[in-house]
Amino acid sequence: MSTPTPAHVRELAARADDLAAAITALHEELRQGDDAVSRTGFRLDDAAGWARQISGDLQETASELARIAARPADACAVPWGVCPEHGNTLTSTGGTTRCNAAGCGRTWGYNREKAPCAEPATHRLIDANGGEALICDGHAIDARNRLIGGRIEPL
Ligand SMILES: [Zn+2]
Ligand SMILES: [Zn+2]
Repeated sequence: MSTPTPAHVRELAARADDLAAAITALHEELRQGDDAVSRTGFRLDDAAGWARQISGDLQETASELARIAARPADACAVPWGVCPEHGNTLTSTGGTTRCNAAGCGRTWGYNREKAPCAEPATHRLIDANGGEALICDGHAIDARNRLIGGRIEPL
């Protein structure tokens, strides 16, 4: 089975958008009816909201897939993001991420802490057991602060 493409996920999102629009239209039509008919529409604001939520979740999924697909071949091996200059200094809220280091000011329009790192690898990390990984500047900073018994070499 091949990996679903961002386009495929966006297609599903579009179906959820269509459903939301159809539910809203249905609600509008029910309002034209007599009282009894009109009252049956009371669930439909919520239902349309859920369909929009589904679309939003699918759009975010598509964006995440697209970011993963766009990672360069020489990308850092770490499965979470850092600030390229400051390392493990990120805070994510509501789908945006910022660096907390003084004077940095970098922000990203997605949850970078949960996205695989896409920065170019610039260092080789060798851990205490001899395991190796190619990592970026930001992760090298982070690893220097935490690494016990291994070493980090520039490429
Ligand atoms: Zn920073
Ligand atoms: Zn990295």
